[in-house]
Amino acid sequence: MTQISIAFGCPICKKDVNVQLDSEKVESSVRNPVPVVVTHGTPEHAVTIFVDKEHRVRAISASDIVQRIADVESKHTPFTRKFVPIPVDDEVSLSGLDHVQITLVALVDGKRSGDELAKILEIPKMRVKILCEQLVRMGKLDSVRVVISEK
Ligand SMILES: [Zn+2]
Repeated sequence: MTQISIAFGCPICKKDVNVQLDSEKVESSVRNPVPVVVTHGTPEHAVTIFVDKEHRVRAISASDIVQRIADVESKHTPFTRKFVPIPVDDEVSLSGLDHVQITLVALVDGKRSGDELAKILEIPKMRVKILCEQLVRMGKLDSVRVVISEK
């Protein structure tokens, strides 16, 4: 098991933080970048860093986004028409993307709906839709599908 050292500036306490991560966890993930929750500080707080395969921090969310992903996925979805962004099969280049776009590309898995992504990212659903459509045009996402989901 190889440990990699990752440094980033915490958006909550404004301190420089160093964390040790298991490199396999990053390299074996199907996601790129990989969301990793880092808890530190006094009082203790959590941030989510998005680490790419070259071990660079591509985005930071000032909250435990992984917990919010679990919360959203544990909830029942009512009967509704929803849009679901579909990732491209290959790894995509993240250059030229801003933090919100990179985070979105990292979270899109072909299952999460725009509603769920909006809740996870705490941004309006319409903004998620517009961002996804932009990312499709840029070739960073495959497509946006409209599905009717049942309970
Ligand atoms: Zn901090």
